Amino acid sequence: NRRFLLASRPHGAPTPDNFKLEQSPVPAPAAGQVLLRTVYLSLDPYMRGRMSDAPSYAAHVEIGEVMVGGTVARVEASEHADYKPGDLVLSYSGWQDYALSDGKGLTKLDAKLGKPSYALGVLGMPGFTAYMGLLDIGQPQAGETVVVAAATGAVGSVVGQIAKLKGCRVVGIAGGADKCKYAVEELGFDACIDHRAADFPQQLAAACDKGIDVYFENVGGAVFNAVLPLLNLRARVPVCGLIANYNAAGKPEGPDHLPGLMGKLLVRRIKMQGFIIFDYYHRYQEFFKDMSGWLAAGKIKFREDIVDGLENAPQAFIGLLEGKNFGKLVIRAGDE
Ligand code: NDP
Repeated sequence: NRRFLLASRPHGAPTPDNFKLEQSPVPAPAAGQVLLRTVYLSLDPYMRGRMSDAPSYAAHVEIGEVMVGGTVARVEASEHADYKPGDLVLSYSGWQDYALSDGKGLTKLDAKLGKPSYALGVLGMPGFTAYMGLLDIGQPQAGETVVVAAATGAVGSVVGQIAKLKGCRVVGIAGGADKCKYAVEELGFDACIDHRAADFPQQLAAACDKGIDVYFENVGGAVFNAVLPLLNLRARVPVCGLIANYNAAGKPEGPDHLPGLMGKLLVRRIKMQGFIIFDYYHRYQEFFKDMSGWLAAGKIKFREDIVDGLENAPQAFIGLLEGKNFGKLVIRAGDE
């Protein structure tokens, strides 16, 4: 059983030596337990927070503990009445080949659902985050302009496509020409701007000639600075993530933007609301019904960036925080 432990806490960007690959015997299930073999491991930006000991909304991983993470796993052996070998489940086994479970928190996956890995993406936590943040907090109306950053990623790609389904004009922000081309040509966004371009703020303003009514915040930093002057009266800003800050080792240099932000919120009556998707799971069925319908009808596309081999998880995760992934980042740890 290979497993990745947190070896040390990163200072700034994570490095490979923050992780330790350990070999241990494959455990055997006791009465009431199942043995799970990881098939897919989801890699998500929130894991950077778990590696740190700064206070957060969830407990951090202790040094020497297995890195946490959502997984799709196959039941290898079962001493649990509800599970039999071969069942595919959604679990939270973390960065390891095998894990034991008492069945709590496991969800059986329906083979008819299409790709099992979608349970970690468009039909799982990131898709659900996009749906709730956009519809519940953003409340987009037909004809409005919706802007989303990390626009080709797991959350952003779904936000933009749902906004299109609701009749909005959608402007994506992404890193590089290939991602922007994909957002427009494949995802159907009206425009997509490269945040690495020197004149990014000017390009964004030109693409949002009627201002911005909903800004779905995934990034923060320089991207938010370009968005803020464009926010319209009564704009809504669901604050989902601030990935540009996750590797920050201290406060950013430069001018203090806080007074400008507060002034803008006040005079433009802007609603900015943070959210954590955990709080919404009572509404998962509502999401699942809509999203599985849209997928079946071909109305939502979802790109995955699948990396083979558990041993590649640290490097792939480090890349996620630098924009190296193109689509939902998933490790294929075993055969489906
Ligand atoms: P993505 O698939 O979008 O991957 C992360 C992307 O972020 C990268 O590909 C890159 O895209 C972009 N990025 C990374 N660093 C920077 C930077 N410094 N400046 C600008 N862009 C950057 O990840 P997810 O869809 O899983 O997550 C998107 C956001 O949603 C994250 O902030 C995450 O923390 C948040 N989230 C929040 C949840 C909640 O409950 N509130 C739940 C799930 C996710 P590009 O190359 O296009 O810049």
